[in-house]
Amino acid sequence: MKEIVVISGKGGTGKTSVTASFAVLAGDDAIIADCDVDAADMHLLMNPEIEKSENFFSGVAAKIDENKCTNCSICADVCRFNAISVINNQHSINSLNCEGCGYCEKVCPVEAISMQEQNVGDWYISKTKIGNTMVHAKLGIGAENSGKLVAKVKNEAKRLAKDNNKDYIIIDGSPGIGCPVVSSLSGASYVVLVTEPSLSGLHDLKRAYTLVKKFNLKAGCIINKYDINTDVTKDIIKFLNEESINHIASLPYDENFTKAMTFGQTIVEYDTGVLKELIVDSWKHIKELVKSN
Ligand code: SF4
Ligand code: SF4
Repeated sequence: MKEIVVISGKGGTGKTSVTASFAVLAGDDAIIADCDVDAADMHLLMNPEIEKSENFFSGVAAKIDENKCTNCSICADVCRFNAISVINNQHSINSLNCEGCGYCEKVCPVEAISMQEQNVGDWYISKTKIGNTMVHAKLGIGAENSGKLVAKVKNEAKRLAKDNNKDYIIIDGSPGIGCPVVSSLSGASYVVLVTEPSLSGLHDLKRAYTLVKKFNLKAGCIINKYDINTDVTKDIIKFLNEESINHIASLPYDENFTKAMTFGQTIVEYDTGVLKELIVDSWKHIKELVKSN
């Protein structure tokens, strides 16, 4: 079972559209994982029907039992994170500010404070519109620790792939280079970097590849809208050659790329021309590269 992770140094490069197309092309051979939990939008293209839904708990926050609290303010005085305030003459905790240190629980004279696990989001196992299985998640508003939720989504996808003898896990990774993308990359068989020819695109590609290199992973690159700036495209290709990154494809600018999204379809469902052909060829190429890896 091979784990293919699609990432980009930043959002807006077309990463999710490309990943969703691979998900359609792989069909029943793959389990799909949307690890871009901070801005999950693969469901818009894969139209998943939820079969299983669970809360995701991570970290703890203080909670005040109003029936025991005497409003003495001792807890508010010791909290360094300004997480305790008085609302309607009652002390209460702002869980978004609470760091879960537990100091207030220790000093409360009437044991009115307890530390409680935080429900920071939900994760799901679903059937996509084409019938393959997708693991995805939704992070709660203001919730942190998305790296842990990414790890949960990935581990569930791995378990399902193993139990059902699937050839691939196709992962829509988080953008950027922070903790969530590190979680997306861990254990990957192959990384697909999606970029676009702008100076910031090249800069972000280099930053993302630094991370890929640290994990000692093999990688390939898809240049989206290569023809909008052929000078930068040349610089990107030069960088790929220098770093021995496979140049998988250069996709031309094509309105159908965004039109497909507007209609809630993947490129390979919506387009019938060159764009579709290039994505189909890219998926074949990636399968070959992964096989020989
Ligand atoms: S220390 Fe305890 S009793 Fe005092 S305000 Fe805080 S929760 Fe209420
Ligand atoms: S657990 Fe720590 S951060 Fe949270 S309210 Fe209590 S003292 Fe403040």
